[in-house]
Amino acid sequence: MSTRRVTIVDKDPILRQKARAVQPEEFGSAELNRLAEDMIETMYATDGVGLAAPQVNVGLRLFAMDTGDGPAVLVNPKVTARSKKTAVETEGCLSCTGQEVKVERFRDIAVAAQTLDGQKINFTAKDFLARVIQHETDHLNGILIVDK
Ligand code: ZN
Repeated sequence: MSTRRVTIVDKDPILRQKARAVQPEEFGSAELNRLAEDMIETMYATDGVGLAAPQVNVGLRLFAMDTGDGPAVLVNPKVTARSKKTAVETEGCLSCTGQEVKVERFRDIAVAAQTLDGQKINFTAKDFLARVIQHETDHLNGILIVDK
């Protein structure tokens, strides 16, 4: 494992681009697994709770997170349902250093994603976990907190 450089808004155009889906033949590959390991290591090294692939200059739809339950990686994540209720909290971002932005997010969401070996998973998330997933999914669509 190794850490990778974290991309920065205004410097790295990949942060403003829509990432592409991980393809069936890429699941289980050494390259994808190494990317995920490096993302987790980079996330811990920078004290982040989430890190999306564009933040290490890779335009693929996956992100790593650890909201207190250990590291997890979601591949091709989609928010499939949203609560009517929203909440506003201050967020920071490893790619927007020094900026804190109040962001409105859905309180509860349903998520469909894949694991690193391509298994389909569905779950619901609320509060902080839901916020992190929405923040990281935004990254995969080229959206940053400074756009909110
Ligand atoms: Zn971010």
